[in-house]
Amino acid sequence: MDGKETRKCRHCGTEISLNKGRRDRLFCDEICKNRYHNDIYFEKNSEFRRINRILKKNRDILKFIMGSGNYFRISHERLKEAGFDFDYYTHSRNYEDSDCFFCYEYGYLKELNPYTKNESYGIVKCKL
Ligand SMILES: [Zn+2]
Repeated sequence: MDGKETRKCRHCGTEISLNKGRRDRLFCDEICKNRYHNDIYFEKNSEFRRINRILKKNRDILKFIMGSGNYFRISHERLKEAGFDFDYYTHSRNYEDSDCFFCYEYGYLKELNPYTKNESYGIVKCKL
């Protein structure tokens, strides 16, 4: 033994000398310490970000389809083709006696097309 105490940096694995500075050091420097904690934060929040991306995409699709109007009717197929994911919504609310599913301020509710009698969706924008 030459008296040198070392430990591997938790982030990069580099040997760090414990002979000077704090003996309980876990990282080479502040950069490795920050990267280590950023990685943990990123890992913990990846599912949250994934779901939020879907919700934002759904909202953008509803907003784009609706344009500047305040109501728009669309078929299930066309909404699906646009990339809408029906499994994700932020909240639901009763709207004109139907369950309306929202992605933030834009929502959709099932209805029967009065002309074709096919099931379709009415897109609405709710004032928050
Ligand atoms: Zn390091």
